[in-house]
Amino acid sequence: MRVLAFLDGTLADPEAAHIRVDDLGLLRGDGVFETILVADKKPRELRPHLDRLARSAAMLELPAPDLAAFETAARAVIDNWAGGREIALKLVYTRGIDGDPAGTPTAFAIGMEIDEKVRRARAEGVAAVTLERGFGPEVAERAPWLLLGAKTVSYAVNMAALREAGRRGAQDVIFTAADGSVLEGPTSTVVLARERTLYTPPSTVGILPGTTQAALFRGAEKAGWTVKVEPFSAADLATADGVFLASSVRLVTRVHTLDGTALPDSAELHRELVAAYEGEY
Ligand code: PLP
Repeated sequence: MRVLAFLDGTLADPEAAHIRVDDLGLLRGDGVFETILVADKKPRELRPHLDRLARSAAMLELPAPDLAAFETAARAVIDNWAGGREIALKLVYTRGIDGDPAGTPTAFAIGMEIDEKVRRARAEGVAAVTLERGFGPEVAERAPWLLLGAKTVSYAVNMAALREAGRRGAQDVIFTAADGSVLEGPTSTVVLARERTLYTPPSTVGILPGTTQAALFRGAEKAGWTVKVEPFSAADLATADGVFLASSVRLVTRVHTLDGTALPDSAELHRELVAAYEGEY
């Protein structure tokens, strides 16, 4: 099941061709996107996702996206969805056709089913490996052209890292900076639990500010947890009470094994954090 809508709210056949082969999103990965979870017809964290789309677009110096129109497209997808109770809703915004003097961006929303791998990760947790990203945590602010922290459609590196994880017998990745500090996953935010405190690295280290992590922290605070946004090192992961990967579609996923070594059993903590997160909806 797939539903495709354009920004005026019109629907189109998701299995037909609509994007030109000279679209810069395709030719250069020059564009931005968001993936939003819709559960029971309700999009989660819609405003933070739209705001982040606008922030990513600004980092790429794309024209400011029409957020009301994106909302119209999202609503058209949701209203016309006839699949399962959850939708992975993608908003895509590229620089448009190469050489177009008007510079009109390509924009659409598409709803897709949640795949089986994601459901398994939610339920069973994942084995992850740490992989180096090759830059220091200070680079993002010094070199904005690297677009660290923008959600661009250039995810080839992120997908390559996941394949590397597969070669090492794992399903996911925790990227580390040159100084050994933790960055993020290829499609998730890293959250560490220690003594009733949750930690996540600040986005200033060159990572995406996570909407799921933010919702989790809100819910966890209400449930009595302390939450801290501060750097921590890869060495801290091994000694934590729990390590989790948070993302819109995957929700809060437990890391049970890191670099081939089993982590302390965090199944109970995981149940507690999922309840705190779900309490926000
Ligand atoms: N970091 C990266 C690189 C991501 O691609 C994602 C989501 O796909 C996240 C973090 C988590 O963000 P969110 O919780 O808003 O989905």
